[in-house]
Amino acid sequence: MDAIEPALERFEAQLATTSCELLPSSFDPGSPTLRAYPRQVGWAWTSLEAALRRFKAEGVMMRLPLSMQLELPLFRACRAAGSFIFQSDLGNIPLAKAALEGAAIDLVITTAHDAGALALYLRENGAREPRAWVVVRDISEHPAPLPLLSEVHEEIHLFPGMCVFATCTEAPERAVFHLSEEFLTDERDDSFRISSKSGSHLVPFSGLTIPLTVQKENPCRCGRDSFLVS
Ligand SMILES: [Zn+2]
Repeated sequence: MDAIEPALERFEAQLATTSCELLPSSFDPGSPTLRAYPRQVGWAWTSLEAALRRFKAEGVMMRLPLSMQLELPLFRACRAAGSFIFQSDLGNIPLAKAALEGAAIDLVITTAHDAGALALYLRENGAREPRAWVVVRDISEHPAPLPLLSEVHEEIHLFPGMCVFATCTEAPERAVFHLSEEFLTDERDDSFRISSKSGSHLVPFSGLTIPLTVQKENPCRCGRDSFLVS
C-alpha cells in the first residue's frame, strides 16, 4: 500500500470539493493507516455484475461486513443484473439459514472466512449451500482453498471495492484468475506489480507490489491472460 498512501494524503486536500464516492483503504476498520479512497460517483462493480449474470442470481444474500461500505456498488450491480438483495446480519447465522430456505436466494456474497463458517453451519444443520457464492478476499490473506461445494466466483481485492483479481465468468472451469481491466502489470522482475490504468482511478498509482505469488498461465478460453495466485 506504500504506493498509494502518499497519493491519498495529497488527495485529502481536494476531498471537500470533489464529487466522489469513498471506500475504506483497508479491510481492517481499526487500522491506524485507514484512509478514504475516492472513486467516481456511480462506479460499477463490473466483475460482480458479470458473476450475478453468469449464475443467473435471482436473490443475493449480502454478508460482507458493513465496514466494507460496498452496499452502494452492490445495489447497482444487482439492479443491473436483475437480482434482489437480502442484507444478512453477520452475527445471526440461523437467520441466514432461514432466509436461504424460505426465500428465493440463490447466491451469497461474503468473505472467505464467513463462507466457510456459513457452509459448515448449513451442513451441520441439514441445510444445503446456496447455489453459488461470491467470495471477496483481502489481498493480504493467503488464498487458501475454500471448503465450499457449490459454484464459486472469487475475487481478490486490494481493499474493499478494489478488485485486482477475479475468476473468469466466461470459462469458469479453470481455477485461474484474471487481472482487473482497471490495472496494468509490470512483470520485469520476480515481483508482480500493478499500476492503475489511465482514467480508471481518481487517485492513480503505479508500481504497487502484490503480496502474493502470481504465476502466468496459458491464456484463457475467453482470450484474457490467466494467473495462478497463491
Ligand atoms: Zn477467462
